[in-house]
Amino acid sequence: MAEAVAYFRGGFVPLSEAKVSIRAKALNYGLGCFEGIRGYWNTARQQLYIFRMEDHYIRLHNSCRILRIQLPLSVEELCVVTKELIRRNGHREDVYIRPLAYIASELLSPTLIPEDNELAIYTMPLADYLDTSNGITACVTSWTRLRDNMIPVRAKPTAAYLNSALARAEARERGCDEAIFLNANGFVSEGSAEHVFLVMNGDLVTPSTEDDNLRGITRATIAEIAAELNRRVIFRHVNRSELYIADEVFFCGTGAQITPVVKIDGRPVGNGRVGPVTSELQALYARVVRAEHPKYAHWCAPVYE
Ligand code: PMP
Repeated sequence: MAEAVAYFRGGFVPLSEAKVSIRAKALNYGLGCFEGIRGYWNTARQQLYIFRMEDHYIRLHNSCRILRIQLPLSVEELCVVTKELIRRNGHREDVYIRPLAYIASELLSPTLIPEDNELAIYTMPLADYLDTSNGITACVTSWTRLRDNMIPVRAKPTAAYLNSALARAEARERGCDEAIFLNANGFVSEGSAEHVFLVMNGDLVTPSTEDDNLRGITRATIAEIAAELNRRVIFRHVNRSELYIADEVFFCGTGAQITPVVKIDGRPVGNGRVGPVTSELQALYARVVRAEHPKYAHWCAPVYE
């Protein structure tokens, strides 16, 4: 098989040649930000659709503004380059796309100087990342979610993922699949790399960005498509104990898609099985991302001619 290609320093190069120095600030201090985008293969149409690519690149631009990184490409140009990268890699399967903007400067101090910044993009095949069929277990972590004025988590800075990794490691040590963060005010914030929704009296309840979580694209998608199922979406503070009495709980995110949570802190969620509202939403989401729902087809950018 031909070696995968990455976008690196303004061109397409073999993945093995896309390397940074061990002196790079990105590596020494975690100075960078990234995106996670999914592409879905539609077998019937023999087409790969990239889901909400423009929205992801708008968010990358915003992350870069916060980090004072100047991106060499506009949102439109990023979309063009990403499609070309996928074509060069010949993906005909579900894929994950990882754009990464980082400070390549080798100077010693951890400063955010708007120079020596680089952009890299790589892709990989990715089916389910969490168990979307049977659901997963979660624990509330003892690590507190970062606040906006510590490391801004409404962006996607690489450094914030130490917070996520610590929480995830703790969850694993406690025998759970995933962690749920509380923020410094004690409200439910998000998972290590997903948002959390509770189904309560038929409504979809989720913490808003005020509770120190990412401005989520999957969450926004759910907020829009829930109308198809006559469901209300309520953004509000969520208390920890509500996690234990919700009828259903699920995670959502580009990687996680819609993943049911069947146990939290040792307590079964609802009857401990995947609930009907989550299942219904999963089925709708699966159609939307593969461009099978005409109303939302504008979110799906075809890659092949
Ligand atoms: N929270 C965090 C910390 C994440 O890394 C992600 C994944 N991007 C999400 C939530 C889900 O966000 P989105 O739906 O935009 O992928």
